[in-house]
Amino acid sequence: MHLIFLGPPACGKGTQSAILVQKYGYYHLSTGDLVRKEVATKSELGCKLKMCIEKGALGASEIVNELLKKDVENHKQMSILFDGYPRKLDQAEFLDSVVELSDGVLKRVFYFDIDADELYKRILGRVTCNDCGAVYNLQTKPPKEEGVCDSCGGCRLTRRGDDNEEILKNRIQSFFEETAPLKDFYLKRGILTVVNARAPVEVVTEQIVNAL
Ligand code: AMP
Repeated sequence: MHLIFLGPPACGKGTQSAILVQKYGYYHLSTGDLVRKEVATKSELGCKLKMCIEKGALGASEIVNELLKKDVENHKQMSILFDGYPRKLDQAEFLDSVVELSDGVLKRVFYFDIDADELYKRILGRVTCNDCGAVYNLQTKPPKEEGVCDSCGGCRLTRRGDDNEEILKNRIQSFFEETAPLKDFYLKRGILTVVNARAPVEVVTEQIVNAL
């Protein structure tokens, strides 16, 4: 029984994914993570993807679809939480075929509803600990001691490379133009839940859990 999280960058998908993984044992499949891993290998496909990430544009569906398919095949027995995929109609159709092949069922799709101004505020203040991955926001959730990670004491808090203003504008625009229309696709199927993503983390979790 799989789930999808649809939402723009910094809408809270990652935070809610971590909560659901811990609570219910979903396998968290983030195509953003798969893409970054491929980029790190410096393969030919990785180099192509790197150029897209650096522009804040979507990678080619044929490449991302293959990464996704492999990862689904490697986690056949698990319920999967798809985070950041699908991002376009052709990907939604591809996902249907992959889910069917693996005898899975798409149970529910959550659309994280939030406006662009709030996203800018969240992303431009966001820093991540290079050592343990803890995420902070310099405006809304700073570490207790400036520059030091609360969780592991590491001193390498850095901004994600694609969190600058120009790239951010493209990523948000790409979400509203290419991904948001998927809301209708799943609404027509009767499996869409819209969550208010401006609400505090616990309230967002409650909205999701109530709809499962
Ligand atoms: P994310 O961490 O989900 O924001 O993804 C980082 C970057 O990876 C995106 O800006 C895209 O360039 C690429 N990417 C991730 N998922 C997809 C996808 N489903 N389709 C195309 N590109 C993707």
